[in-house]
Amino acid sequence: MSEENVRVRIAPSPTGAIHVGLARTALYNYLFAHKNKGTFVLRIEDTDFDRSTEESAQAIIKGLGWLGIRFDEGPYYQSQRMDLYKSYAEKLLQTSHAYKCYCTQERLEEERKRAETERRVWRYDRRCLNLTDSEKASFEAQGIKPAIRLRIPDGPTTFSDLIHGEITREAKDIDDFVAVRSNGIPTYNFVVVIDDHLMKMTHVLRAVEHISNTFKQVLLYKALGWDEPKFAHLPLILGEDKKKLSKRHGAMSLDEFRRLGYLPDALVNFLALLGWSPGEDREVMTRAELEDLFSLERINTSNAVFDMQKLTWMNGEYMRRMNPEDLIRAFTDWLAYTRTELPSEYATQELLSKAVPMIGERSRTLAEIYDALLPFISDDLTYDESGLEKHFRKDPDTVSQRLKLYRDKIEELDEWTVESTEEALRQLVEELDVKAGLLIHPVRLAVTGRTVGPPLFDCLVLLGRERVLERLGKLPR
Ligand code: GLU
Repeated sequence: MSEENVRVRIAPSPTGAIHVGLARTALYNYLFAHKNKGTFVLRIEDTDFDRSTEESAQAIIKGLGWLGIRFDEGPYYQSQRMDLYKSYAEKLLQTSHAYKCYCTQERLEEERKRAETERRVWRYDRRCLNLTDSEKASFEAQGIKPAIRLRIPDGPTTFSDLIHGEITREAKDIDDFVAVRSNGIPTYNFVVVIDDHLMKMTHVLRAVEHISNTFKQVLLYKALGWDEPKFAHLPLILGEDKKKLSKRHGAMSLDEFRRLGYLPDALVNFLALLGWSPGEDREVMTRAELEDLFSLERINTSNAVFDMQKLTWMNGEYMRRMNPEDLIRAFTDWLAYTRTELPSEYATQELLSKAVPMIGERSRTLAEIYDALLPFISDDLTYDESGLEKHFRKDPDTVSQRLKLYRDKIEELDEWTVESTEEALRQLVEELDVKAGLLIHPVRLAVTGRTVGPPLFDCLVLLGRERVLERLGKLPR
């Protein structure tokens, strides 16, 4: 079902890096807008002047760009709209939906602490709700600047969530929250309503943690005489330990995922499934498919679990489906982004164009490609210890002898190809009357240092005869 004139937004506070939670919220809004041919807006909520930075705003914009989540409007900055908010605060005072509060920080802090020791939830005690004009005048005369609080009306507040259905909260459970601080700076819950209204948002899709804010905002819409947008609260993202996702769960900013060698398309696909599913067990989907299949109806109410292994698996699937040119480009972009220098003169464009697709078949991240590439671009091999134990150290003399025989055979080959090097090995296996593995494993170990990798004879061809001959006699005892 398609909605009309859909307008949605993300409204990040630029106080740090862009993390998984924000990226998922952005993606859902973007997909919802696209599905409905609507508009996706970016609004930077930078009214927390102490913590907001332009650097963080730019990191958010860059991170979204990397994921290919393009916004149609914005970025708007709340810091540039401060005058506008004032007039609405005045309006709330005039209509008695809000009142001035002269309580000092010290008093509020004491009250809060007392509530804590008495194990009560703290709510503002409305001391300033019914101040007389002369009481107000006296505070003003003392130079005390008031905050502006919303007066929460009696009775329950209800809103209908597109994912969770109707949700109700009693007045006693909603605080007379501060809309404008005593220093004149408006709060999130206040300005978000003004901006969502003025920017004509039809839907607000954001994390479930915001539900208690939504009640406050719904009351503000009412107080200002405005219709509220439709709300959809997205499920929480948990770590694998079922605790709320946080830094503890490892690399969580987009920049870190990028450095670890994840592809934006794979990450987008993975994020899309963190709280939504298209049904039928479908997992790997193109962006176009995601845009087509996405719907609010299929967003889960239960928490999503961030499964890093699944992301890594999915990334591998994406790498395998990429054409070689795109994979090479992704890899060289990753090298540039991470400022990774390839170590030697071997790392030519020609070698990369052969090696990267070959290795990419078996790798799950761009960083894994880099690691698997090392034996081809550096002569400084590190040998897999368990491989040495298994394929060499048990009987080093016999293995060395076999490797020498193979070396002698391939030294004489007319042609250096996959077929000729393989044929030489088959012949030797027959002559020695041993299992092929008794040669294949030590040869791989000797020429790459590894026990796994691309097909062995492709590796030999890629390395070239000289380097292979050189390496065959060098296994460390
Ligand atoms: N600035 C809020 C945040 O970053 C925005 C929440 C919302 O979407 O309303 O959490």
